[in-house]
Amino acid sequence: MAAAARRTGRDPAEVTLVAVSKTHPLETILQAVELGVRHFGENRIEEALPKLPAVQTRIASVSPAIIWHMIGHVQSRKADDVADLFDWVHSVDSLKLAERLDRFAGRRGRTLNVLLEFNVSGEASKYGFSANPDSIRDDVLDEVAAIAELPHLQLDGLMTMAPLVAEAEQARPVFRALRALRDRLGQRFPQCSWRHLSMGMTDDFEVAIEEGATLVRIGRAIFGERRSANGEPPPLRGEGR
Ligand SMILES: *Cc1c(COP(=O)(O)O)cnc(C)c1O
Repeated sequence: MAAAARRTGRDPAEVTLVAVSKTHPLETILQAVELGVRHFGENRIEEALPKLPAVQTRIASVSPAIIWHMIGHVQSRKADDVADLFDWVHSVDSLKLAERLDRFAGRRGRTLNVLLEFNVSGEASKYGFSANPDSIRDDVLDEVAAIAELPHLQLDGLMTMAPLVAEAEQARPVFRALRALRDRLGQRFPQCSWRHLSMGMTDDFEVAIEEGATLVRIGRAIFGERRSANGEPPPLRGEGR
C-alpha cells in the first residue's frame, strides 16, 4: 500500500486499510486487532449481528477503538441494525436507504459516515447509482442533494467495485472514473467533504491507490481464502462479493 502511494507522490498515511473479515471467525479478527488493525469491513448484516458485539465484548478496552465498515448491499429493512452496529456504510445506493439509516442513527444519537456506491462499470450484476463522469443523471443528482441534507449522515465520498478482470491494470479506468465523479460531485455539492474514495481489493488495490483510493477493502490478501459459514469449501473467486 505504501509503495503504491509513493509511486504517485501520495502520503501513505492518506490510505486506510479496511480489513475485510467476512466469513472469518472472531478469533481471527482478534488476532488482527492485536497486530494493530482497527478498521474492519463486513458485508452481511446476518453475519455481523452476532459477530460484532462478540468482538466488542472481547476487546472492550482497545484503544483506539475498532471502526466497523459495512461494505455490502444493505436492504432498507436492515437499516436499523446497520445503524446500530456500524460506523461507516460504504454501500449507500438509494435515497430510501439513506433516509432509513439517517432515521435510525438519529434515534440512537449517532452520526454515520456514508459513501455513495456507484456502478461505474455498468455491469447489471452490480449495485450502486449509475453514472458516467461526464453526465450524472438528474434523478441521481436529486437523490445526492437530498442525502447531503440528512442530519445524521455525514456524506464523505464514493465507493465502487471494479469488475473482475484478468489484470489489475484493466480496472484502472473504473477507479479513474470514480475519482472524476467525485470531483464533479464535489463542485456541485461543496457542503460535503467528498474526501474518501473506497476502491481497491486484494487483486487491484495498488492500482486503486495510484488512482486516489483513501480506503482499500482487503480480505483475501490478509486472511486467506474465505471460509463459509456451513463448512463447505470457500466460495470461488468473485462469488459472495
Ligand atoms: C469481499 C469484499 C471485499 C474484499 O475482497 P478481497 O478480494 O478478498 O480483497 C471488498 N469489497 C467488498 C464490497 C467485498 O464484498
